[in-house]
Amino acid sequence: MNKCWAKTISPCSSISKEHYISKCLLTDSVTIKGFDWCIDGYKEIGINSLTAHCLCKTHNEMLSNLDAAAYDMWLILKEYNRVINVRKKIRCDCYTSFKIDASLFERWCFKTFCNMLSMNKEWVPDENLVGMIFGKQQFPEKCGISLLFNIGDKAGLSEHIKIQEIKHEKLGPVGFIMEFKGLKLFGSWVMREDLIGYVPKQFNEDGKNKNVLFHFRKMEYPEIKINLLFDWSGKYDNTKNKIIKYLRNNNNI
Ligand SMILES: [Zn+2]
Repeated sequence: MNKCWAKTISPCSSISKEHYISKCLLTDSVTIKGFDWCIDGYKEIGINSLTAHCLCKTHNEMLSNLDAAAYDMWLILKEYNRVINVRKKIRCDCYTSFKIDASLFERWCFKTFCNMLSMNKEWVPDENLVGMIFGKQQFPEKCGISLLFNIGDKAGLSEHIKIQEIKHEKLGPVGFIMEFKGLKLFGSWVMREDLIGYVPKQFNEDGKNKNVLFHFRKMEYPEIKINLLFDWSGKYDNTKNKIIKYLRNNNNI
């Protein structure tokens, strides 16, 4: 039986041994919660010890640009944090601005969520969600990822990825909370009005209310003249960004 969750979009080939989370990311484990097979609490899985069997080779390859976008995001968050630490010690009068494509990264978040959800059970995302992940159709208005934050949160410090499924009593899976190198994200492909009042209770682990910023555009540290811009146009090309190019070529982690 064909277990590829993208089979509705185009013909499949044989199932690949894809890692649940893209192998190129610089973390060796992922913490997950809320999925049927780890309902009791957080569970840590090793990134290299598992293979997914949830996408065929063809569909896996079609999404390789999403993996690259997640890798770039990882690198730029790390660099952003590194420069902040340097600037705190050494005064600098120039302004440094980083820019990154957020649209492909958003699709990667949903792809990763589908991989996790189709693990150990016969679950397939609906055709629309598959279309959004493959870039064949737009996310509905106000659907996609939002940043959850408290003032003063620091991105880039954590070397971890954490994913938690959000399940609605009637609708089933409707979204996820993902922590990605210090960014705390909420993602949903269901109209957000359906979720108002439903989601926040689930992610206030620290007991604080989070601000929710849909398609966040900027993180900034004005005192030390640095910012990171997130481009949602779908047209920004990370490969033309000199800083990202440099980071890709000189990543020595
Ligand atoms: Zn397939």
